[in-house]
Amino acid sequence: MKSHAKVVVIGGGVVGCSVLFHLARHGWTDVVLLERDELTSGSTWHAAGGMHTINGDPNVAKLQKYTISLYKEIEELSGQATGVHLTGGVLLAATEARLDWLRGVVAKGRYLGIDLEEISANEAAELMPLIDPKQFVGAVRNKEDGHLDPSGVTHAYAKAARKLGAEVERFTKVEDIVRRPDGMWRVITNKGEVVAEHVVNAGGLWAREVGRMVGLELPVLAMEHMYLITEDMPEVAAWNAKTGTEIIHAVDFDGELYLRQERGGMLMGTYEKANKVWSEFQTPWDFGHELLEPDIDRIAPSLEVGFRHFPAFERTGIKQIINGPFTFAPDGNPLVGPVRGLPGFWVACGVMAGFSQGGGVGLALSNWMIEGDPGADIWAMDVARYGDWATIAYTNAKVRENYSRRFSIRFPNEELPAGRQLKTTPIYDLLSARRAQWGVSYGLEVPLWYAPEGVKDEFSWRRSSDFSQVANEVATVRESVGLAEISNFAKYKVTGEGAANWLDRIFACKLPKPGRMTLAPMLKDDGKLIGDFTLANLGAPNSNGDEWFIAGSGIAEQYHMRWFEAHLPADRSVRLEALGQKLTGLAIAGPKARDVLAKVSRADVSNAAFPFMAVAKMDIGTAPCLVGRVSYTGDLGYEIWVAPEYQRAAFQALMVAGAEFGIGLFGTRALNALRLEKNYGSWAREYRPIYGPLEAGLDRFVAYGKDADFIGKTGALAERKQGGKLRLRTFILDADDADVIGDEPIWYDGAVRGWVTSGGYAHHSKKSVAIGYVPKEIADKSDGFEIELLGKRHTARVQAAPLFDANFERMRA
Ligand SMILES: Cc1cc2nc3c(=O)[nH]c(=O)nc-3n(C[C@H](O)[C@H](O)[C@H](O)COP(=O)(O)OP(=O)(O)OC[C@H]3O[C@@H](n4cnc5c(N)ncnc54)[C@H](O)[C@@H]3O)c2cc1C
Repeated sequence: MKSHAKVVVIGGGVVGCSVLFHLARHGWTDVVLLERDELTSGSTWHAAGGMHTINGDPNVAKLQKYTISLYKEIEELSGQATGVHLTGGVLLAATEARLDWLRGVVAKGRYLGIDLEEISANEAAELMPLIDPKQFVGAVRNKEDGHLDPSGVTHAYAKAARKLGAEVERFTKVEDIVRRPDGMWRVITNKGEVVAEHVVNAGGLWAREVGRMVGLELPVLAMEHMYLITEDMPEVAAWNAKTGTEIIHAVDFDGELYLRQERGGMLMGTYEKANKVWSEFQTPWDFGHELLEPDIDRIAPSLEVGFRHFPAFERTGIKQIINGPFTFAPDGNPLVGPVRGLPGFWVACGVMAGFSQGGGVGLALSNWMIEGDPGADIWAMDVARYGDWATIAYTNAKVRENYSRRFSIRFPNEELPAGRQLKTTPIYDLLSARRAQWGVSYGLEVPLWYAPEGVKDEFSWRRSSDFSQVANEVATVRESVGLAEISNFAKYKVTGEGAANWLDRIFACKLPKPGRMTLAPMLKDDGKLIGDFTLANLGAPNSNGDEWFIAGSGIAEQYHMRWFEAHLPADRSVRLEALGQKLTGLAIAGPKARDVLAKVSRADVSNAAFPFMAVAKMDIGTAPCLVGRVSYTGDLGYEIWVAPEYQRAAFQALMVAGAEFGIGLFGTRALNALRLEKNYGSWAREYRPIYGPLEAGLDRFVAYGKDADFIGKTGALAERKQGGKLRLRTFILDADDADVIGDEPIWYDGAVRGWVTSGGYAHHSKKSVAIGYVPKEIADKSDGFEIELLGKRHTARVQAAPLFDANFERMRA
């Protein structure tokens, strides 16, 4: 075994081997994979080998499509058969709600280049003869489904990597990982030590244990999973003889089953409700090529549905039941990327569909390691989407929930119950008493809306039980004054004599003067967006600006801290702190907002003394606060930042003072409705790392000409010169009883040309709004667009100026 390597990949399952292959293909050949046993000795060897392109997140779906397209290449390169059977498949709907969901999947497929087609239940039964069509209301045909040989694929990756110069060391167990003072990693094994610049944790079933070697508690957990293989079926033999083809795949969402042909019989797997965690706290190191005890009682309810939906199963004996463990992250998507605070330590774990996702994970990670960027929008699988709030118990609750809901519909207004009330703010009970309906964001409870007595969310793809109340909340803001809790923002404090210079480099905007705020786009090296923030200069007048406050997307706190910390100067002249819930937030907005603020504060909050984008420390009632004159509602408004111990006092003071002005509470759903009519975008929806500031309409905040050589300047200038490819546009939709939620295709002139990033109903303007990207060539057309919603194309018109307060008079008044 070599003593030094550029990269050590830990784990020879399908994921580790894919990472090794991709690193070598990308030109890094001084790479070695260490496997404690034979290759495939974790989850990989007993997988059912199914592969498919669809995924709830379109960007992960793209990587799944890439994975499937890769098998031919690795087979040719390695000479190792992968056993790929691209049979195609059907996705079955037993209810109308499921069919609505599937229509959304077909629509997404149009701009992802995934060939999906809605068909009837009878047509599905013609393609897959074991179906009882009476049990279904419709289906979708997917040509890119299939199955493969899990061991063949893993060895093909490894052999192809070896041919390109990579090394594989089997029976080499990593026992510890130690960081040297010079930043290199000592990877200590039972056969000696390798010193490496980079370490990749692809430990699969042991990813937690490998993480713990560097003090990292990864939110992954293994679940038992069963599938059965039947005796030979005459129906299968008859179909094979008649058509000369295999029986195609089927996913029966409502039965929570997946099926495919296995030799002369069928394979049927299920995600049972009564699921079972495996090795909750620690995976035994002596677990190898073993299977777990099957428990047919646990899957009996699913099998009963299966027998009804696919009657031939009832007449056939079961030859074998496989029960094996594999790992999940709390939301079921992989954990990929560099780990904050551990330079050179990377993860590629929690991959629950290794044969659909392994290739994409390897590609993204190798791009990231070599080019400094994953090369695609992989937010849905970025390890940074979790913070330290994703504890072992939280992970356990969410993984179990996710497993049992693997094939369940999640409606756009549906909040899931597991792992809740983990983080609450001091006014949680006060808002609950006012009937706040809670959602969750980055582990924190956030008020979505305030339900009248006896009303609660009815889950639906269409406008639902909250519609009229959200309209009331919007009206309160637009007509008098509303109060919202905004503690879910990420908040950062930056101090030190180097702060101003650092901020000037990290943000693309011009730095605000003391007492002022600005919108601050943050760019990557290639000039694309990596964040959008509000930056406030809290320094004393005439100071160089050495106290700064930043507010940004709450879900991206870890993601942005990883970026900030990686770019901090080594001389310790900048101190940076993510404040998390050490600072909570309240917002007041509406034409009466200033009247309320004036009543609770001794500060002069007149327009002259405290204009739009001003920021100052002031007391609200008895509570010391930081107040910024800005509002995501697009109205006259203030964001109020307050330490948690004072939040109740500030809240009560505002509510008491606001009573005479008709103050009312509003939640994030009303906030969404309000920001839509101002064309305001947000991080992870309109603003993502695949868009440039010009494309996203944030170029007006980029100080292209400032002296500071800010990160991404060259790329941003090039985008401005060449014009980028896309434009973000707001559309008004002729919708009837449903609004877009995001990821719907935008048609122009009979073809799909763009996609929706978010939308909803703008109650004040009484319009259904969609925001999305289209190619710049058609971005200035006002007509000819359609947006596909629940299987129907609706006329959409570009709304260039904001629907509300197009001249920005209200927020500046
Ligand atoms: C019953 C069942 C059916 C499934 N069916 C499908 C399917 O149809 N389609 C699909 O896509 N997925 C399926 N899966 C999931 C699939 O198996 C996993 O997604 C995949 O195997 C994950 O691969 P991995 O490389 O991340 O982990 P693993 O396969 O667990 O590999 C990790 C490797 O790391 C090694 N390792 C760990 N720690 C160390 C160390 N300290 N030193 C050296 N080596 C170490 C282990 O020995 C192991 O070989 C199924 C899983 C099960 C259990």
